[in-house]
Order: sequence, then structure tokens, then C-alpha cells
Amino acid sequence: MTLNIRFAPSPTGYLHEGHLLSALYVWAMAKLKNYPVHLRIEDHDQSRARNEYIDAIYEDLEWFGFEWDSKSKQSNRHEIYEQALYKLEKQHLIYGCDCSRKSLSLENPSSSDGEIIYQRHCLNKDLKITPPNTTRLIVESSPVQWNDLRLGPFTENPAVQCGDFALRDRLGQWTYQFAVCVDDIEENIGMIVRGEDLRSSTARQIFLMSLLGKKTPPHYFHHSLLYDPLTGLKLSKRQHSQSLRAEKMKGLSREVLLGQICFKLHLIEKEVPMTLNESIFLFSKQIEGYLQ
Ligand code: GLU
Ligand code: ZN
Repeated sequence: MTLNIRFAPSPTGYLHEGHLLSALYVWAMAKLKNYPVHLRIEDHDQSRARNEYIDAIYEDLEWFGFEWDSKSKQSNRHEIYEQALYKLEKQHLIYGCDCSRKSLSLENPSSSDGEIIYQRHCLNKDLKITPPNTTRLIVESSPVQWNDLRLGPFTENPAVQCGDFALRDRLGQWTYQFAVCVDDIEENIGMIVRGEDLRSSTARQIFLMSLLGKKTPPHYFHHSLLYDPLTGLKLSKRQHSQSLRAEKMKGLSREVLLGQICFKLHLIEKEVPMTLNESIFLFSKQIEGYLQ
């Protein structure tokens, strides 16, 4: 059966090596399984997204030679999110919250990775769900079981992990968790390949997708991350990792950059330039090992 797979970068900065890693895993899985790739621009956070970064995403992916079969942009999909929210509203599953950022962090416990576990302070206050209030989802306590193609089985309870999480923020912006679930359903995504930093979001996304009517969740493959050798921190835009275009401006070819990443993953023994096809092939061999 053909499943859609997606690459979903957020245009809040230029693509860096961590994105290239994710893209290689996505295209490798697509190649292995013969799945079409959907490119989704995750610009739900309008306060951080910039058009300049969107253009740069297309340019950088094209420079490497990645090709996609379809694309979408979250900022064009406002009505689709409205409709999905209405579906939850009709089921009495959402409510308004006027807690300030400060009171949220003072009045709620947080998980080991610093995430707030919301204690339903506003559940019975009957507040409007529109801005300046945050819209929250009622997360009933129940275990979600799911299987990661690389990491194995998980049983997690979103009520314990995060509680009633936000679907729309006080500014009226759709949250990542909400937009990604609506899109994965709407765009019929059957295979999700992404970094393991997002693994802890999976149970709540499966839970939310089931409330929105999707009873069979996608397959998941969470890949390992690259860490900065100097700081030991994962590569991310917020830590100002070197962007791919900065490397390109320094004169590095895409083959050199691809060779570096294959070498870091121990897919090759010596650091030599690699073409995109060669890299995708090596990544797909690694994935195949996990799928057996
Ligand atoms: N937009 C997210 C990011 O760039 C990825 C979301 C996902 O794959 O679920 O980190
Ligand atoms: Zn509240």
C-alpha cells in the first residue's frame, strides 16, 4: 500500500545540518518504500516564520537535488484548522484559558524536559475560547500505545505528559501540535519520519488525531539526532547552528556536505564526497536494517 510521507520544516531560520539529516531519512524511507514525498512548510507560528526563510527552504532543498511530489503551507490553511477546531468544540472537548505565561509556570508542575503539565486551572471558568484566551483540549487520562519503527513499543499517557495542551495560543495562532495533527490527517500522511526530539509529542498527536476522526495512526520512525561536538547540544536553529547556505557560501559543495553527514553517521569509513543518490541509498540501507 502506498503511504504519503512528509518533510515539514518550520521557516523560522535557515536549514542546517539537522534538517539535512531529517530530509535524508525522509527521502530514504520514501525511496525504500516507493512513497511520494509531501513538503509542508510549517509556518503556523506567524511571529517567528519569515517569507525569506520559506524561499530559502525551497532553494536549499533544490540545491541538494531533493524533489517532492506535492507541497503545502500552513498559513494558507486557516479555514481547515477552524473546521477541525469546530469538530472538537461540538464534542465539548475544548475550553478557554486566560492563565498568563508567568502563572502557567508558577502554578503547574513541569516534566523532566521542562514542559508544563497544565493542571486545568481554567477548566470550569467558562471562558471564551477566542483570543486573548488560549484554547485548550481536554485530555482524558488514558494510555496511548504506539510502536516506533526504530525505537520499539511505547505506552504513554498524554494527561500525565502534558495535560490539557493548547491548540491555539492567546494571539490566535495555531499551535504546532494542533496544526501538525490536522495536516497529517488532511494530507493523508501514513508514515512520519522525524527526529527523536519530537518523539515525546507522538502520544498526544495520536490521541488528538483520534478525536479528529483518525482511528488508525500513521507509522512512525524517529531518527537519532546530530549533536554539536563543542557544546554537546542537539543541532537546532535556536542554537544558531551553522546554516547549510553559510557552508555553501564558504565554497563547500553539496557532495562534501553529504559526505560529512554520512561519515558522522558511520555510513562510510572515510570522509569522502557523496552524491545525493548515494547518500539516500546508504540511509535507506540503515532504515532497512531497522525494519527487519
Ligand atoms: N516543523 C517541525 C520542525 O521543524 C517538524 C514537525 C514534525 O515533523 O512533526 O522541527
Ligand atoms: Zn488557564
